[in-house]
Amino acid sequence: MRETRPSGSEGGGAGIRSPYPYRCVGPPLRILPTMKRCAPLCCRVRAHPVLPPARQDAYSGRPMKSADDSPRRAFTLVELLVVIAIIGILASLLLPAVAKAQAKAHRAKCSSNLRQILIGAHGFYHEHDWFPWQQLPTNGGSQTLVETWRHFLLFSNELDSPKVLACPNDRARIGAGDFADTPRSLMNTNARNRAISYFAGMHAFYENTQTLLAGDRNIDNGTGATGSCGPARLASGATSFDPARLDRVKWGPELHGANGNIAFNDGSVQMLQGTNLQVQLQRGLTGGDPFNINHVLIPRVP
Ligand SMILES: [Zn+2]
Ligand SMILES: [Zn+2]
Repeated sequence: MRETRPSGSEGGGAGIRSPYPYRCVGPPLRILPTMKRCAPLCCRVRAHPVLPPARQDAYSGRPMKSADDSPRRAFTLVELLVVIAIIGILASLLLPAVAKAQAKAHRAKCSSNLRQILIGAHGFYHEHDWFPWQQLPTNGGSQTLVETWRHFLLFSNELDSPKVLACPNDRARIGAGDFADTPRSLMNTNARNRAISYFAGMHAFYENTQTLLAGDRNIDNGTGATGSCGPARLASGATSFDPARLDRVKWGPELHGANGNIAFNDGSVQMLQGTNLQVQLQRGLTGGDPFNINHVLIPRVP
């Protein structure tokens, strides 16, 4: 018998565990006990080792995989790049949708804030028969006061929290924790107008339902002029829009893009854009404003 086998394998004999592949170069006279004949005995016949039976799964009866059967294999570079590309495509599809949903949620929250301000101001009106900006401070009002927060503060009893005075999309203004004068409170010098996102309508007259009560502060956007206001007895600081040039008015980009929210005295809060904003401003004038001008007090920060 002449046998060759790959170099490095164990020597022949009954004790060999895995002598594959054995190759007969002449007719083997005997097959080792660990080998199985798979062709008639002849020259160059291949014989393969008899492997120990695979361990079986106790439940399914299927052969179990062992670590030796499927050695762990690293990702190739191409596979890794494909996975990264798929994740990138999924992210690019999902992120704009997430951002859009968030912007919509913020507009809705802003609208809800203005509704609460509207209810608060009307609650104050029902109690006093005037809005805060229609009476002098000596009578308990906020006439003559040029800071927007002071007008809102007068009906703080009607508001759940000063947080409703800040628009969720307004990164430059942070809602105050309460109405007191401690750090993070509305009256603290660090808060005040810095906690307010909404203008107050100085020409909000209860009987004139189309007048502006409050709205997103970026309504000016360079198209307004500041000056005095008769009804609120402001010497300066009131923003007005030329009634002949209302077509120029549009929202600044910093809060809701091309959109913005306004609370009207009829009890509605409207999200307005482009010409709708201009039409509503015009209605505010023709809707009974005896002064025929929109005077709003924008919460300016020095
Ligand atoms: Zn807003
Ligand atoms: Zn005025």
